[in-house]
Amino acid sequence: MSTFPLINAVTEQVFANSLSKEHSIFFKRDDLIHSIVSGNKWRKLEHHIEAAKSQNKTHLVTFGGAFSNHMVAVACAGAVLGFKTSCFIRGEELNRNSNFYLQIAVLYGMHLIPVDRIDYREKKDYLFRTHFENNADCYCIPEGGGGEFGMLGVADIISELTFEPDYIIHASATATTASGLLLGLNKNGFKNTTLLPVNVLKNESEQLEKLNNLRLNQAFKLITGFEFGGYAKTSPELMVFIQKFISETGILIDPVYTGKALYALKSLCESGEISSDKKVLFLHTGGMLGLFSEKMMARLFE
Ligand SMILES: *Cc1c(COP(=O)(O)O)cnc(C)c1O
Repeated sequence: MSTFPLINAVTEQVFANSLSKEHSIFFKRDDLIHSIVSGNKWRKLEHHIEAAKSQNKTHLVTFGGAFSNHMVAVACAGAVLGFKTSCFIRGEELNRNSNFYLQIAVLYGMHLIPVDRIDYREKKDYLFRTHFENNADCYCIPEGGGGEFGMLGVADIISELTFEPDYIIHASATATTASGLLLGLNKNGFKNTTLLPVNVLKNESEQLEKLNNLRLNQAFKLITGFEFGGYAKTSPELMVFIQKFISETGILIDPVYTGKALYALKSLCESGEISSDKKVLFLHTGGMLGLFSEKMMARLFE
């Protein structure tokens, strides 16, 4: 057992020609919070874990796809902090060929419950009630760690900053992280920072709706055009960039989230949309499991 979070993530300046030769780019290293678990998934769990503790719950129950960083984060947090964990898995058979996200979740002691896609999509409350009805020990965490608690944990990132950046840029999928960052900027009175969430899948209108609904007087622009075909899709160009950046800095980035966000940053610097006199903060959200894919292997050994 241990405390939460494991470490306070540092901010450091990163010099990489593969990104930009002229710009001052700082990295908030939330990837260092944990070697495997995504930094933002830890952040989104923090307030849920506090709530579970204060209600004397001992069992965390959640929902995820078979390649879910959130599922792995809950499994790991349970092992670290002494909770039992269970996860409903969408549309997946569990067997000896199950992928390594599921393997790691099981190593951390998580109980996996495979359910079909329709039940998963439409009947989450029902699933929870039928499996855990009389179990007062259970605390339910929404898919992806979203919602108010998830945002509050992310907002803390801004309180940890020692300077006010002109831009903060990061990978965005459900816009929970982006919402939390806007909330944090607002709380801390960072009026001159523009948030640049980079869309890594094609759900622009959903993300915009979520961000606009916050009704915060805080500048943001959802960056699109760097989806590379959609969620977890890649291109040889993206893979080459990722490999170059990693070899230049020693900082691991993945093709699903942070690789796309950094590629977007490189393009915005190149085009002059972000001028070189601006201070840029890249939020490294972690997500290392996405790096260990067959596509990456194919690229490295071609
Ligand atoms: C889940 C995840 C994101 C996206 O976060 P949202 O809050 O869903 O927008 C970004 N980066 C990594 C590494 C993730 O695991």
